[in-house]
Amino acid sequence: MSRMPVVFVGHGSPMNAIEDNAYSRGWREMAKRIPKPKAIVSVSAHWYTRGTRIMDEENPEAIYDMYGFPKELYEVTYNAPGSPEIAKAVKELISREIQFDNSWGIDHGTWSVLVHMYPERDVPVFQVSIDAYAPPAVHYNIGKELKALRDQGVLILGTGNVVHNLRLVDWHQVSKGFDWAYEFDQFIYEYIVARNHDSIINYSKYGDIAKLAVPTPDHFYPLLYSLGATCEDDEVSVYNKSCELGSLTMTSYLWA
Ligand code: ZN
Repeated sequence: MSRMPVVFVGHGSPMNAIEDNAYSRGWREMAKRIPKPKAIVSVSAHWYTRGTRIMDEENPEAIYDMYGFPKELYEVTYNAPGSPEIAKAVKELISREIQFDNSWGIDHGTWSVLVHMYPERDVPVFQVSIDAYAPPAVHYNIGKELKALRDQGVLILGTGNVVHNLRLVDWHQVSKGFDWAYEFDQFIYEYIVARNHDSIINYSKYGDIAKLAVPTPDHFYPLLYSLGATCEDDEVSVYNKSCELGSLTMTSYLWA
């Protein structure tokens, strides 16, 4: 079996789930380049916990973990099966202490993207949580430990945003960003292309611009899982390299 690609998606607004726009089309393009996965392990910015958790239900439910959006967004279903078997394999691959936990579900960080990438809902999917208390290197290392799944036909998906500052969202800048947002996104892009992962793990060294771009790391950490799972000889492709509402970048990556 050939090695599965690895993906990081900038998911942005949940509205992308029901819109046919440049982002959702970019995600469809990405899916076209990926052989049909046996399962998807998703690390979503929205499952942010104490300790690392894994869901291992036969049929995890989609959850609507966002507020104040139009009714039609809450009518989107994503009823793909789970994969208790691969969830168990994930637990064995990760060296730190982790727990099964089915109190969460497939959240909008995952389904708002997968409705476009896998609209048939026939690829099993489950999530691994992000330990809010672990430093960046721990997240990167978990990604590294998950790398072996790629040889078993499993797709590792990180879903967050490189630049994500909701407090500074500017509704007047529909498809534009602040200078610092472009700057931070670009510097991450350059380090990804150069495979300089240490500089990405140590992003907080970049001072004020990092504080603006990543005021809390929940949306940034999924990138570290994807990066950890990449190989030296992967080729990286970039999708949706753009900024929204001033302080959200949508830049997405595929390593194959
Ligand atoms: Zn989000």
